[in-house]
Amino acid sequence: MTPQSLLWITALASVMMTLVAMSLMRSGIPGTRLLVWANLAVIGALVLSPLQQLPAIPAVITIVLANALMAGGMVLVYSAACRFFGYTAARPIWYGAIGMVSGGIAAFYYLWPSLAARVAIASLFAAAVCAAIAHHIVCHRPRDRPTYPYAFTIGVATFASVGYLLRTFVYLAGIESPQASLMSATAWNALFLTVGVLIMPSLTIGMIMMVHDRMLADREREANVDDLTHTATRKAWWSAAQRCLRATERNGQPMALLMLDIDLFKQINDTHGHGGGDAVLKHFAALGHAVLRPDDLLGRFGGEEFVVLFTGTAQADAASLAQRWVEAVRITPCTYDGKLLPYTFSAGLTSWKRGDTLQTLVQRADLALYASKAEGRDRVTLRTA
Ligand code: GH3
Ligand code: MG
Ligand code: MG
Repeated sequence: MTPQSLLWITALASVMMTLVAMSLMRSGIPGTRLLVWANLAVIGALVLSPLQQLPAIPAVITIVLANALMAGGMVLVYSAACRFFGYTAARPIWYGAIGMVSGGIAAFYYLWPSLAARVAIASLFAAAVCAAIAHHIVCHRPRDRPTYPYAFTIGVATFASVGYLLRTFVYLAGIESPQASLMSATAWNALFLTVGVLIMPSLTIGMIMMVHDRMLADREREANVDDLTHTATRKAWWSAAQRCLRATERNGQPMALLMLDIDLFKQINDTHGHGGGDAVLKHFAALGHAVLRPDDLLGRFGGEEFVVLFTGTAQADAASLAQRWVEAVRITPCTYDGKLLPYTFSAGLTSWKRGDTLQTLVQRADLALYASKAEGRDRVTLRTA
């Protein structure tokens, strides 16, 4: 296969990548639009480069512009990676660098013709951009997500960076014949082209995998975290609690379960409107998060009803945490629409005994909660059997 046809095929592969990246644009994940532009720039470079063979087309297009487009495409992938993680690439610096690369390529074509110098400039720049892409993803990849999409992209970018450095060395050290044109099928050229043309499509695939992972993370968050109160949804709480229960059954450590219900919440809604009710719900959950420890599992069961599972915690310790929450609600007022919105809550606490299921624990805590309501609200009731 000639180098030209390899470039045409890669241009086609980049068209496919562009179409896939375009399909992701409506996901709204930052960086996807830049990824599309990156691939369009690279398609331009891949289409223009093989035209060097046609003397009718000036070198300013087939060499200078083609190199500028390739450098720009790589910078756009870097910018896409930055945007993906909520950053903005330092555009003046990078665009200045692309200008310098283009100027260097033009100088070593028109003034001091040297293929080795042109290859070195383009390759060193590509190595730097790929290293920047790898570094950025290493620094910002999420720690709580599967590593594969990020490790893949980091791996491709690192491999590309090292490959471009090797290419620089091979040309500057004169290992590759300085007479050989980039379009001639020497062994080194075949190697660099074959591996090199895969880099942009592979980086794009890596970024697409990262975008997919972000979409999945967003959907998982929507399903597992209550939007209003930032507590676990009932379903997410239940499956996490089942896992804790199984661990408790194995290690026999103490565990407690607290059911909570905001008092006379309907009145709050009736007096202050649904917005007032929502403000109370947020306030209540925020105080809960402040009082509870990171391992205490807080979930919203529905409406104004919440639940906490305390693993490795004796009933007395859970009771004092619950009491702290009651007091926090008393002394930290909720404000809505510039007005104070006082409220209280009732709770029922129970602890795990061997043979308990999650259902029996919840039922017992619920009975304790009803006792709190019956006795006048604004309190925590304990129930052991
Ligand atoms: P009690 O002290 O006996 O618990 O009385 P209550 O008024 O709190 O209990 P009830 O179960 O009668 O009322 C719960 C109300 O919660 C009714 C419902 O409209 C309201 N509610 C449920 N979900 C939401 C929500 O997400 N936001 C708001 N603002 N209100 C909600
Ligand atoms: Mg209530
Ligand atoms: Mg209720």
